[in-house]
Amino acid sequence: MKIRKKLLIGIVGIFGIALAACTNEGGSTNKGNTDKIQVIATYSIIYDIVKNVGGELVDVHTLAPVGSNPHEYDPLPLDVQLTTDADIVFYNGLNLEGGNAWFEKLLLTAGKSGKDAPVYRLSEGVEPKYLTTKGKESEEDPHAWLDIRNGIIYAENAKNGFIQVDPDNAAIYEKNAADYIKKLESLHQESVERYSEIPQEQRLLITSEGAFKYFSAAYGFEAAYIWEINSENQGSPEQVSNVVDFIRSKKDPVLFVETSIDPRSMEMVSSETGVPIFGKVFTDSIGKPGEDGDTYIKMMEWNIDTIFRGLTEK
Ligand SMILES: [Zn+2]
Repeated sequence: MKIRKKLLIGIVGIFGIALAACTNEGGSTNKGNTDKIQVIATYSIIYDIVKNVGGELVDVHTLAPVGSNPHEYDPLPLDVQLTTDADIVFYNGLNLEGGNAWFEKLLLTAGKSGKDAPVYRLSEGVEPKYLTTKGKESEEDPHAWLDIRNGIIYAENAKNGFIQVDPDNAAIYEKNAADYIKKLESLHQESVERYSEIPQEQRLLITSEGAFKYFSAAYGFEAAYIWEINSENQGSPEQVSNVVDFIRSKKDPVLFVETSIDPRSMEMVSSETGVPIFGKVFTDSIGKPGEDGDTYIKMMEWNIDTIFRGLTEK
């Protein structure tokens, strides 16, 4: 009996060591990762921007997954865990994450709602634009990133956040941000030049959500939409009939549909007006990895090119 017990302990002991070895092995791989700054971004567009600025020094997790609508999101238990453990959190602000107060609640649960919490608003310093729907005029429009010059402000703010949390690597963040911003500056310049070829009165952009206020101001467009913002009623009969009337009043209008939005409302508008949907554009999300528009720069290149072709090839 005694021997058996000993034997059993021996087996457990060996098994225990083996288990510990496994955990250690896993732990050491994880340690490689935890040496990196653990970053939370609220949605995929800023996920990509902060990844470019943080480079090799950071691991980034996006809360609202690629392809989803970040205006309203229900964090998963894993999101709560990762936000609790994160070294730094980036969000858009301008009312993007305010839809059902999901982000505020998440920060509270994750113990990151205090004044000194490492939580940074990337739109800090952006000149806000406001909604125009009656009764909503005091609400900010969040889609600032669709003006590439604001993307540059986002990258600057990401850099400043990283430097505060990880000052030893300031020079690396400075360099990453400078390289990235140079690309954004040249893309903005190219876009301005390219659109200057299209007469002003032809520059009309029709989408489902009115996400293009900042874009339109930057690149000289008039924007029309079915509904103004995703957190409101989407595609009601009244909204559809308003945009249908508007389209009928225009010469050669072109329709676009966003990748992160149910296309059925725009399809209805298209079939009622007989105007085809020219193509897809990215507004609230980058593309899936390996697919079109899978970075902020690629999604903006895609939008700029698709809108240009829509207006010139129709
Ligand atoms: Zn949106």
